[in-house]
Amino acid sequence: MEYKAFLIKYAEIGTKGKNRYVFEDILCKQIKQHLNSLGEFQIRREYGRIFVEAESAYDYEDTIEELKKVFGIVGICPVVVEESTDFETIKKAAIDYMKVCYGEKPFTFKVNARRGNKSYPMKSMEINSELGHYLLEAFPNIKVDVHKPDVLLNVEIRDKVYFYSETIKGAGGLPVGTNGKAMLLLSGGIDSPVAGYMISKRGVELEAVYFNAPPYTSERAKQKVIDLAKIVSGFSGKIRLHIVNFTDIQLAIYEKCPHEELTIIMRRYMMRIAEHLAKENKCQALITGESIGQVASQTMQSLACTNEVCTIPVFRPCIGMDKQEIIDISEQIRTYETSILPYEDCCTIFVAKHPVTKPILEVIKRSEEKLKDEIEDLVKTAIETVEIVEAVI
Ligand code: ATP
Ligand code: MG
Repeated sequence: MEYKAFLIKYAEIGTKGKNRYVFEDILCKQIKQHLNSLGEFQIRREYGRIFVEAESAYDYEDTIEELKKVFGIVGICPVVVEESTDFETIKKAAIDYMKVCYGEKPFTFKVNARRGNKSYPMKSMEINSELGHYLLEAFPNIKVDVHKPDVLLNVEIRDKVYFYSETIKGAGGLPVGTNGKAMLLLSGGIDSPVAGYMISKRGVELEAVYFNAPPYTSERAKQKVIDLAKIVSGFSGKIRLHIVNFTDIQLAIYEKCPHEELTIIMRRYMMRIAEHLAKENKCQALITGESIGQVASQTMQSLACTNEVCTIPVFRPCIGMDKQEIIDISEQIRTYETSILPYEDCCTIFVAKHPVTKPILEVIKRSEEKLKDEIEDLVKTAIETVEIVEAVI
């Protein structure tokens, strides 16, 4: 079947009132950006719907795959276009369409006609009934079911005629750019790329920060994080990844603070620096891949201690998820294979044998006092020497 166009279905959410136009505009821009390298497509908005029409040769599978990555789209309907609106031609085209799409097997159907052009000589009901009868005569294997048809044949008559009956599930969510920007703390693990994906799905643009600890962590570990950012950018659009050299801060903590508190104190400095970078780059929130109870630094008490240094909201979309549920999403968005590559990360190198699981904020603050002579300078240097990589797929 040759599909020349796609009808894009999007959820009603966020489309009420004057926001609707903003939402649609951004969705169209997102579609255009995603399809940019796949061919020439015209994106048309009419009667509250979006049509993507191919104006050059294109690869069907690749185009569908790409459209499935656009947040805000709930369904993609491949459309067959017939140039002539003459009813005899429509009848023939409907037969071809049904034959190629559904073949000889038995099924029930219903015709659903719509006229974009109200001057068309037949009314929608007439088209439904005439076309329905015509198809029944042509195919002995089919029956009409107006309530629950297996196949709903949509026929839209405008300047051309559009046939579609199949809806491919889209990513859902809201178009990126409709809900501000957030800073993702992106490690090389499984959880944080999933967390970034989930928040971006709600229309949020992403920047990311990675805390690197050379020479304790390798160039390959850093490249892995860049690769993960690229995969996530396939959904979220370009991600500016801020790479912070965290080594001196970690060494200072290691030297001065009780070892069982290392992870908590280190995480508090990560959050402080991430918040600084977030504000500097107009991000309104932070995102982490934390999940309650997953490790010592993610107990309720640890999360409270980590959170205490933040003044902007911290989004933790994986917070109530089991590891397997997070893995399922990471497989679906294809970050899993990269996440499980066995390169060291800075948390595992400076990890204590018996980390506190119920840290007490006052105790942690007192330990941090021991860093007071040097930490300000170290944080300042870390921020000043940030390396920025633009991750885009
Ligand atoms: P992940 O699978 O995302 O690495 P994790 O289960 O390994 O998570 P932690 O190492 O405790 O958990 O990290 C918790 C969260 O802190 C991560 O999800 C991530 O958002 C952030 N984080 C941890 N290490 C780093 C790092 N080196 N750079 C940036 N963010 C980090
Ligand atoms: Mg980790």
